[in-house]
Amino acid sequence: MFLPPRFARRLRSARTWIAFSVLAPVGMLVVSGLMLLDMRRDAWDKASQTSRNLLQVIERDIARNVEIIDLTLQAVQDNLRAPGLGQLDGAMRQLVLFDRAATARDLGVMFVLDEHADIIEDAGASPPRKAHYGDRDYFQAHKANRHLGLFVGQPVVSRLTGERMINFSRRIDKPDGSFGGLVLGSLKLSYFARLFDQIGLGSDGAINLYLRDGTRITRHPYLEADVGVNIAGSRTFDRFVKEGSGSFVETSVRDGVRRLYTFSRVGELPLILNVALSVDEVEAGWRAKAVVIGSVVLVLCGLTVALSLLFGRELQRRGAMQAELVRLSETDTLTGLANRRRFEEAYRRACADAERTGKPLSLLVVDADHFKRYNDLYGHSVGDELLMGLARCLSASIDKPDNLACRVGGEEFVLLLPDTDEDGARRVASEVHAQVRNLAIGAVGIGAGTVTVSIGLASGIADAADLYGHADAALYEAKAGGRNQTRCAAFAYAPVINRQPLRVVGG
Ligand code: GH3
Ligand code: MG
Ligand code: MG
Repeated sequence: MFLPPRFARRLRSARTWIAFSVLAPVGMLVVSGLMLLDMRRDAWDKASQTSRNLLQVIERDIARNVEIIDLTLQAVQDNLRAPGLGQLDGAMRQLVLFDRAATARDLGVMFVLDEHADIIEDAGASPPRKAHYGDRDYFQAHKANRHLGLFVGQPVVSRLTGERMINFSRRIDKPDGSFGGLVLGSLKLSYFARLFDQIGLGSDGAINLYLRDGTRITRHPYLEADVGVNIAGSRTFDRFVKEGSGSFVETSVRDGVRRLYTFSRVGELPLILNVALSVDEVEAGWRAKAVVIGSVVLVLCGLTVALSLLFGRELQRRGAMQAELVRLSETDTLTGLANRRRFEEAYRRACADAERTGKPLSLLVVDADHFKRYNDLYGHSVGDELLMGLARCLSASIDKPDNLACRVGGEEFVLLLPDTDEDGARRVASEVHAQVRNLAIGAVGIGAGTVTVSIGLASGIADAADLYGHADAALYEAKAGGRNQTRCAAFAYAPVINRQPLRVVGG
């Protein structure tokens, strides 16, 4: 596959892979985070929709049943005014007044009370059962207020059947408009239990039916203790009343569970119905998926980071290894100085620089005198030790960072001195002689001043590439002149035709 060279170079860079090891996981985390948020929103949308649908179904069912009861109550009101009713015997009156409505399955009791709160007509028995209801809220309410219309009473235990129920009642006016009693029909709480039981809301879900004053009529799942409890003034109930219908998330005053409440009024009745789903259960499915997806993404992120870092580190290691190989290939193993290869490279560069900048370049070719003898006398390892000592002497003689000491042959060294004129080079040569004078290997009896070197010096700008030849020739002269001395190739700044003879400068 063809990759543009710049791109290929980037791919080989450890920094690229380290950056990738950070950016790729961040990207993955952002994308999966957004995805999880989206899934969470879906879970909530679904729960809200389900709650709304349930609420609507339940609300319609209750409203329809209450409407049937109310229509019956109104029919009884009308029938009570029917002419000749008083002449009928009890059983006939019961038949005329209550028709068949009283036989509905969930209808508790249905009767007419007189203004003293005693039963005067009873849909369930003829003659009517005896009971007094002066203490009931609906009786007091209708007695006090002529215009209540349909009144929904507190949930109570029936005095006639012992069952829990709520009562719906309408006032009966005497011809003069004064209080003449009421007609009452009740709905058993078992109706709500049966209705709600068909609905699955999870283990922490609930359905509540309240009176407008905050009294709980019933709750699903059903608990006797919940019936009749008034939660008016709680945060949830305040919102039910204030907002009429809608949904919100709130903590239940009953059990402290956080729930999504979806609520509305039941028709035009003073009843508030809510469907409440536990937040934990709404999010349970999403959470399970989030844990799996999150774990997988985290593992992948971890792997990406680890692999990218490993790869980056491997590239770094390879880079360092390559640099070390280059260094080794340019270093003399015995003395640690630059070797011939490095010298040639540096020399080429220095010549080019000198020609470009016009600054003088100097070269010292340094050769140990009669070195063969040390080998012959003391052995090759002592010879090696001497070579290392000479290398140290050369290194100690240069101080500029661009000066370079090299071992170019057996006992032959070169000092490359860029930006150094002949005077400077001569000072370096003197320093080399001085350093070498201190060289000694006491263990084998080679004392200071025993070892000497001869140096050929060449310095110049023009003809720089040939500088080595001049320095070498000067070295030859130094050897021929008795060794332990430096000879300068005196061509430096002069044209080739004016080249002066070599001069002895010391040793
Ligand atoms: P001159 O003064 O004319 O330079 O005499 P010389 O003996 O120094 O020169 P010659 O070229 O005759 O001998 C160089 C000797 O250097 C030969 C060889 O044994 C020795 N030599 C070269 N490389 C090494 C090395 O790596 N270790 C040791 N111990 N000796 C070496
Ligand atoms: Mg020699
Ligand atoms: Mg030699």
